[in-house]
Amino acid sequence: VIEIQDLHKCYGELEVLKGVDIKAKRGDVVSLIGSSGSGKSTLLRCVNLLENSQQGEVLFEGEAVHWKGSGLSRHPANRAQMIRIRTNLSMVFQQFNLWAHMTILQNVMEAPVTVLGRNKAEAEAAARRYLDKVGIGDKCDVYPAQLSGGQQQRAAIARALAMEPKALLFDEPTSALDPELEQEVIRVIKALAAEGRTMLIVTHDMNLAHDVSDHVVFLHQGLIEEEGTPEAVFDTPQSNRLQQFLSAGK
Ligand code: ATP
Ligand code: MG
Repeated sequence: VIEIQDLHKCYGELEVLKGVDIKAKRGDVVSLIGSSGSGKSTLLRCVNLLENSQQGEVLFEGEAVHWKGSGLSRHPANRAQMIRIRTNLSMVFQQFNLWAHMTILQNVMEAPVTVLGRNKAEAEAAARRYLDKVGIGDKCDVYPAQLSGGQQQRAAIARALAMEPKALLFDEPTSALDPELEQEVIRVIKALAAEGRTMLIVTHDMNLAHDVSDHVVFLHQGLIEEEGTPEAVFDTPQSNRLQQFLSAGK
């Protein structure tokens, strides 16, 4: 579904990604781990075209993005393609990013109606289904501020699912949460993995990465330092940097 080839990303002089290759086939769960500033969020943002990149490709279902310009001014040339890719790769952020002035139900219905052009009744029925699925079907009519962090994040996941994306991108979905609220979000992510959804997950939670991933990628200073199955990465790390990173978290 997603293939990242030799991806490079700079902010001015700062080269954040220095040639990264990652593949996620249909149903794969790929986790990205690495220390703060290693480029994990930047990579996800490049994948769904929230950021441009300077070199390399992100292929979505085998289709490459059409670019205009080059270097720092390189940008997607085809707006329709950009929107199609973004809607097919739904992102869940650390800070939930729900719209405060809308009820939970409205938050989940909004993009399917405005971006995908679904009719309201259909979008509402689907939104209720997804909210049920993440366990907050009874919270349709309240505003985000009335929910706990874990409930807000589950609402954000329902909102991402409502776009019926081909893959889900998670950027540290549990790191803004207290440990007990973290677990309710982890349960939802595990259920999605068990359903065979394609997911790219940036996480600091090594247990989550260990339990849900088919493949784990350790990013260090903009390059893949080591990657492999969860067993290989967590049980028999090869590089010093990965060993240090894993023991620092314990
Ligand atoms: P964390 O674990 O703290 O979330 P990360 O691996 O997600 O870290 P990124 O957010 O991808 O790291 O940032 C990588 C580097 O890029 C950092 O050095 C950061 O300062 C820099 N950076 C990120 N966004 C921008 C931006 N919009 N403009 C300039 N520099 C940026
Ligand atoms: Mg980040």
